[in-house]
Amino acid sequence: MDRLWAPWRMKYVEYVSIEKPKGCFLCNAAKTSNLREKLVLYRNELVLAMMNLYPYNTGHLLLAPLRHIGDFEELSDEEVLALGRLTKKCIKVIKEALKPDGFNIGINIGRVAGAGLEDHIHIHIIPRWNGDTNFMPLIASTKVIPEAIYDTYDKLMRVLEKLQE
Ligand SMILES: [Zn+2]
Repeated sequence: MDRLWAPWRMKYVEYVSIEKPKGCFLCNAAKTSNLREKLVLYRNELVLAMMNLYPYNTGHLLLAPLRHIGDFEELSDEEVLALGRLTKKCIKVIKEALKPDGFNIGINIGRVAGAGLEDHIHIHIIPRWNGDTNFMPLIASTKVIPEAIYDTYDKLMRVLEKLQE
């Protein structure tokens, strides 16, 4: 992936490190009773979708099984299907809410491949816009990131709720 020039990330990383919860953040998201606070957009009995706290771009989502497992091969067929269906749903929601020009979708397995959290498998969905490497600092100068991430959360949630009606 191209490295986005995003100086605003530093401020956000500091903010997050102050409030960093203990343990696996995906398991925390799987258990939380406050979905919005934990930025969980969708959760059923098998899988969840949440905003990435360290986004590469606006609308960067993480999809994961609720079970704390590290290998793709450990997923049950039901979980594979649920993750596939959730990927489809998230693409649809992001397309409608954020109108991206494209997506990067992938799984980092192992630290060598860039996995920040090795033992709870997750799929990254990263919307991309033409010229987004130039456009990111522009948004950054007008918004504090924690606020921006909840703005995006609300925008995605409105579309998600509409699709489920
Ligand atoms: Zn976990």
